[in-house]
Amino acid sequence: MIDLRSDTCSRPTPEMRRVMADAEVGDDVYGDDPTVKALEAAVADILGKEDAVYMPSGTMTNQVAVRTHTQPGDAVLFDQAAHVYVLENGGVAAFSGVLPRPLPGVRGIFTPADIDAVIGVPHRFFPTTVTAPARLLCLENTHNNGGGAIWPLEAVEAATAAGRRHGLATHLDGARLWHATAATGVSEADYARSFDTVSVCMSKALGAPMGSCLVGPADFVSRARRFKQMFGGGFRQAGLVAAGALHALEHHRPRLGETHGLAARFAQGLAQIDGIEIDPASVQSNIVRYRLTHVAAGGLVDQAHQRGLWMLPSGADAIRAVFYLDITERDVDDALRIIAQAIDASPRVGAEQTARGAGY
Ligand SMILES: *Cc1c(COP(=O)(O)O)cnc(C)c1O
Repeated sequence: MIDLRSDTCSRPTPEMRRVMADAEVGDDVYGDDPTVKALEAAVADILGKEDAVYMPSGTMTNQVAVRTHTQPGDAVLFDQAAHVYVLENGGVAAFSGVLPRPLPGVRGIFTPADIDAVIGVPHRFFPTTVTAPARLLCLENTHNNGGGAIWPLEAVEAATAAGRRHGLATHLDGARLWHATAATGVSEADYARSFDTVSVCMSKALGAPMGSCLVGPADFVSRARRFKQMFGGGFRQAGLVAAGALHALEHHRPRLGETHGLAARFAQGLAQIDGIEIDPASVQSNIVRYRLTHVAAGGLVDQAHQRGLWMLPSGADAIRAVFYLDITERDVDDALRIIAQAIDASPRVGAEQTARGAGY
């Protein structure tokens, strides 16, 4: 099976499994797992922040970040298709009791004007007591639902400056920030500089089995550790998995550009297939989203799966494929062949059945 559903489908390599088996461990809830501490120090250093806390998932680092930054009843601004908004099961409402204020990003990227429009213009006649106070602005880079789109550094700085002007704290969902750096050469620390806090994922294309880190000022991270425990994230001999993450930082992070090459090769091949609509130039990192002109996404995904290729439907007429280090160029070429066959084998449908979804 060629599995392009997600870069979370990467498997630990034999070398990674060896360092995990040999990892020195302790009880992380008591704060004495040396491998977790080494990972937290390494990630804080890369991101240029004071401290970091390792948690079981990226969803948890985002949710803990929102909880630590806000009080119930506060408003939080993020893109309308942000992971923290649409792919974390309503967590910000359930765990933090905050009011989402979605911004009309294009492939996840919004502008200072979008932020200003949500905040509004104060006037002495307008009671401040009727609107939820905006406390937090979240960005996502690279943007998952935006098809791996990369925020330009100037756009990041403009958006965070606008947030600060309105008194907002700023959080970056950098699950795939490593990919923005691999694609542009702008360091993770430069992308992170204008944010108070950042979360980064170790289990996406980096290839570690699990976990994410939340980084920021030492006092923030120490309050976040309390919510990590409250949310059930205290994991004991977590050094076993932290060792895999440290290995991935050293050995896989420098190779992420290879996954962008695979995504580009895939997109160029797709553009040659009748029934597919894609601009290969729109592929900026390791995620490819493409549209279908005359077959339904669900049916095509099923036909491809029967032929050995696994992808994710992404709306009625769109499909997502994600590339990671386990995938080879040969897999890409095989995938393209399977997709062409699967389109031929799928029934043609009318425009109403491939009606455009949310714009991604
Ligand atoms: C995958 C992802 C997360 C969540 O990470 P999990 O470890 O799967 O919980 C958060 N943000 C973005 C942008 C992601 O792609």
